[in-house]
Amino acid sequence: ETLRPNTAAEAARPVPFDVERVRRDFPILQQEVNGHPLVYLDNAATTQKPRAVIQALVDYYEGYNSNVHRAAHALSERATQAFEDARDTVGRFLNVADRREIVWTSGVTESINLVAWSWGRANLKAGDRVLVSAMEHHSNIVPWQLVAEPLGATVEPIPVDETGTLDMEAFRALLDERVRMVSVGHVSNALGSINPVEEIIAAAHAVGALTLIDGAQAVGHFPVDVQALGCDFYAVSAHKVFGPTGIGALYGRLALLESMPPWQGGGEMIETVSFAGTTYGGVPHKFEAGTPNIADVIGFGAAIDYLNSLDRAGAQRHEDDLLAYAEERARATEGLRLVGTAQAKTGVMSFLVDGTHPADLGTLLDHQGVAVRTGHHCAQPIMDQFGIPGTVRVSLAFYNTREDIDRLFAALDKARQFF
Ligand code: PLP
Repeated sequence: ETLRPNTAAEAARPVPFDVERVRRDFPILQQEVNGHPLVYLDNAATTQKPRAVIQALVDYYEGYNSNVHRAAHALSERATQAFEDARDTVGRFLNVADRREIVWTSGVTESINLVAWSWGRANLKAGDRVLVSAMEHHSNIVPWQLVAEPLGATVEPIPVDETGTLDMEAFRALLDERVRMVSVGHVSNALGSINPVEEIIAAAHAVGALTLIDGAQAVGHFPVDVQALGCDFYAVSAHKVFGPTGIGALYGRLALLESMPPWQGGGEMIETVSFAGTTYGGVPHKFEAGTPNIADVIGFGAAIDYLNSLDRAGAQRHEDDLLAYAEERARATEGLRLVGTAQAKTGVMSFLVDGTHPADLGTLLDHQGVAVRTGHHCAQPIMDQFGIPGTVRVSLAFYNTREDIDRLFAALDKARQFF
């Protein structure tokens, strides 16, 4: 089924990127926290929502809340239309070939679990190998362990060097015909490293393995084209791209999705149900059991429409400049150690400060209105490898400013006077 045509938002010509104008689209940014104007630098955990997304949720609940795909009434028809329009919007955003290749999930976590439980359980056997990188988020490690281990298959890490760069030579050495799946993050949430996924996908395919790319930290920062990448699966979460929490998508190649068994049963995913034998619906509905998260699907579509209305190249340049500026200031700060210094990075600056614990620093920054995250960032294996309990993580979105970075360093200076 071909993707339905572009919406007006995508066809409109974006005006040149202007951070002050864009910030006004995000009501939450216009507030004080602990007596200081909010500096929100925790975008890798979740991004803020523009007014257009909030309004889409309100419009749905105030105007046409109803269940999709079933009822014979106008509200349901409207909800179904908006719900399915969002599938086209997200499909175009990732440049899928067929609209059925977008499966709604609750986010990256559920997308990876879907592949592990459906494809993995049907295809992995004793002696098979699943490769993930050593810097994966736990959600790209644990689902594979849960499925692979009882089947006698193994989950192995691709080595990462001390800068947070994937060791491609070691990766190639790990590849053999027992490797059935290579599942790696496009961008590390803990370190910001951008992995060379095109090369990884090609090398994995050369030994007959499938590939899954965790795009949680990628799609909010740069455009992604799943057909150009050539991956088999690509997972995204709406809340990392200025949409609601609890909704995301799995892209899967159509033929592959068609070959996979359902993993959750219930309404919506069936064709006919009988005690003599049940038959399942087609892709993507086969993987969407139960009443879906209708409002947030619509909100996800609104978030992508919003992104498409921006000058994304300008936004990306702005963000890259900010990261470079933050790292330059970090390098000039005595006693501060950057964790994750890969050549290719986006959006994240992780660090430690001599003589302080990340959690204490985080609290002292919060007292000054600066929101960061501290800890292992759901990436314990790479923290263990580096021999650290965690980091302070500053993570950026296009609505951050140089002033935010200046406020961060001023707050850091003040916090250090405490120790
Ligand atoms: N993968 C990466 C790289 C992430 O940063 C996150 C979010 O923290 C996830 C996966 C999990 O995403 P979600 O919690 O939306 O399922």
